[in-house]
Amino acid sequence: MPEAVLQRAAAEMLDWQGSGMGVMEMSHRGKEFGAICAQAEADLRQLLAVPEDFHVLFMQGGGLGENAIVPMNLSRGGQVDFVVTGSWSVKSHKEAQRYCQAKVIASNADSKHTRMPDPSTWELSADASYVHICSNETIHGVEFQTLPDLAALGSQAPLVIDFSSHVASRSVDWRRVGLAFGGAQKNLGPAGLTLVIVRDDLLGHALDICPSAFNYRTVADNQSMYNTPPTWAIYVAGLTFQWLLQQSEGALTGVAAMEQRNQAKARLLYDFIDASPFYENKVSPDCRSRMNVPFFLVDETRNDDFLSGARDRGLLQLKGHKSVGGMRASIYNAMPLEGVQALVDYMREFERSHA
Ligand SMILES: *Cc1c(COP(=O)(O)O)cnc(C)c1O
Repeated sequence: MPEAVLQRAAAEMLDWQGSGMGVMEMSHRGKEFGAICAQAEADLRQLLAVPEDFHVLFMQGGGLGENAIVPMNLSRGGQVDFVVTGSWSVKSHKEAQRYCQAKVIASNADSKHTRMPDPSTWELSADASYVHICSNETIHGVEFQTLPDLAALGSQAPLVIDFSSHVASRSVDWRRVGLAFGGAQKNLGPAGLTLVIVRDDLLGHALDICPSAFNYRTVADNQSMYNTPPTWAIYVAGLTFQWLLQQSEGALTGVAAMEQRNQAKARLLYDFIDASPFYENKVSPDCRSRMNVPFFLVDETRNDDFLSGARDRGLLQLKGHKSVGGMRASIYNAMPLEGVQALVDYMREFERSHA
């Protein structure tokens, strides 16, 4: 979370803008929260340049919830294509099998999820209801640097992207996307809010078994208020949208500024790792994530020492995911360049004293 956002939320905690209430105490149908929610949607649309024919839905259930909600809404019970590139798309494929014929049309499992399968090799089905990718694999640290152009590959199917862990870190080419979903908790705000951005023509085809509260048509028709939305999470995410819109790097603002900053942060860390014989990143350079940087100490017996030294310096949450091991630096939007520099300084010092 950007510190400025936490401070603003703290300052308004007991009394939002003279209303005599904190946001958590408001009716979601009152005029105050209505204004907060409408502003959040408008700011998000501006931030991500969301086209007019897409709906912005504020939902609940997280990324894993969407693994079921997307196929219930979009699959029509038919065939769906999955590109499996890491833990998250593995999970998405597995869950979708309960609702449709979910087929893996490309995978990077043979490389232990360290390379992206080239879209020209994907075995796209002629009749798929949609094609699912995870555009940034949080655990394995692989990211699509450009979204696949399915139309150019001869497919009419809409592309569904799970952009949970890099939303708002780079621009989205909406001409290539039918639906994007993501939990807000990595790059936008507190846990509890799930963002869905979906093209209008994809609504209205939900399976009968789809819960009404998870039917995109119903959610859209009710401006995300069919049932009580996660009001606090929407409010704090809205503050983050405003913070993001205010960011600048030279002439760039908003997401373009974040993209430039995130490139610089990632370059600093990867360049250091690549130049060092003491540390290693195993992901192919052309698909390395800008947000999640898994790395290993070549001598893994020093892992615990590395982590405790990092903790002493306030460098937290560096232990890698248990399925991959080693370390992982998640350098989301709110992490400033100075934070990445502090990590690199520590890594250099640790190497000097242990090499
Ligand atoms: C964190 C994450 C999720 C998690 O979803 P939740 O249900 O919100 O825990 C899904 N997909 C990706 C790519 C993630 O990084």
